[in-house]
Amino acid sequence: MKVSASLSNSSENPASVLTKVTVLGATGSIGLNTLDIIRQFPQKFQIEALSCRNSIEQLCEQIREFKPRLVCVNTSDQARELRESFRSGHSCPETEFVWGMEGLKQISRDPEVDLVMAAIVGAAGLEPTFSAVEAGKIVAVANKEPLVMAGELFVQTAKKTGAKLLPTDSEHNAIFQALHNESPERIARLILTASGGPFRDLPLDEFEQITLDEALNHPNWEMGRKITIDSATMMNKGLEIIEAHWLFNTPVEKIDVLMQRESIIHSMVEFIDGSFLAQMGLPDMRVPIAYCLGWPERLPLKIPRLDPVALNALHFEAIDEQRFPCLSLSLKAAKQGGGAPAVLNGANEKVVAAFLNEEIRFVDISKILASVMHVFDETLQQTKPDCFDIIPDFLLNILSLEDAVEADQWGREQAGEVMEKLH
Ligand code: NAD
Ligand code: MG
Repeated sequence: MKVSASLSNSSENPASVLTKVTVLGATGSIGLNTLDIIRQFPQKFQIEALSCRNSIEQLCEQIREFKPRLVCVNTSDQARELRESFRSGHSCPETEFVWGMEGLKQISRDPEVDLVMAAIVGAAGLEPTFSAVEAGKIVAVANKEPLVMAGELFVQTAKKTGAKLLPTDSEHNAIFQALHNESPERIARLILTASGGPFRDLPLDEFEQITLDEALNHPNWEMGRKITIDSATMMNKGLEIIEAHWLFNTPVEKIDVLMQRESIIHSMVEFIDGSFLAQMGLPDMRVPIAYCLGWPERLPLKIPRLDPVALNALHFEAIDEQRFPCLSLSLKAAKQGGGAPAVLNGANEKVVAAFLNEEIRFVDISKILASVMHVFDETLQQTKPDCFDIIPDFLLNILSLEDAVEADQWGREQAGEVMEKLH
């Protein structure tokens, strides 16, 4: 079991208390960084369960190294093949292989598990992350899309079950550290920092020619492909505003975004007395991940450190909204609330996948999303030409996971229709 804050001062040796961890999305960028930390502290953490969708070779190496009790893959065929190969190879004969959404939910709510690292990308993480919250786990939330889709449900359910949502996204982790249990009334502003991505200085008339490789070339962070594109469009920062709104119980109007070119200041809190608290460090996701894994303690990490003397300067700039229309779209959806964030998030996943497949251009991403949100507004206002008088409830309010899934699906369908007209 997890060592509690009060236990750490007692005579019991905390080193003997293992935190049992499930990593959802173990083969991704966050998943690999998580395993890197766990590898450094074998006396503190034990891997109970791992999951991935593809990258089966990499998963097999992880199984041999961490010997998890449970492993979840995408299909029943993959599970059967792995079961047979690990039995016949005599390594990890105890590992149980499960699959699909039910498998993901099983490894998230397993009674032996203390902490779930939610590191699947996109809406696919909604149900498994929610299962962990329903089961009252400590949930390290890297996977921001479920919070965007159904933040209120997550926060309310965590209150009921005693689950602890620990912000793993670097900006939210910075705010979590800076806030240090101060109440929301003392917050004047949350300031999310943004690097500005690869196109922060590109002349606007060159945006039409942006290639996939250029969009995948982030100046400061190495991440999965979807979030890297979201960073180039700044949709990522928009999703982070919604994420911060729910995690820190703060109105969207009190959340600002500022460009911080070096990605050294990971975010800041301005308090009502005029104090600013910021968290800084090199751009390395292992720091916020380790903060969540070790919470409420800090782990003595062996990683490259920031040398403040070597920093020439820190640059802050306002965001040019003309350059990043996705940020304005997401800010509007954040203020609209209801189904708007889930619709925008679903549409964005569909459109980013199309860009990654080189079916559309970079500049099309924001145009398609603007069209989708225009249809959303028309539907709510009953001004869409072929709109009948019933507005689906899930566009107005997200009261259940099913509503979130339906709103997401609606956004994807609208995006599909807009993309078809493009061709
Ligand atoms: P990634 O693409 O590198 O990894 C995703 C992982 O999820 C992989 O293990 C993959 O097999 C698994 N996966 C993908 N689709 C799946 C599906 N449909 N069902 C089950 N498993 C699936 O992504 P990432 O960059 O590690 O990002 C993960 C999440 O963390 C995202 O929500 C992202 O926004 C967030 N995040 C990432 C970073 C970062 O530095 N990479 C920083 C902050 C937040
Ligand atoms: Mg972030």
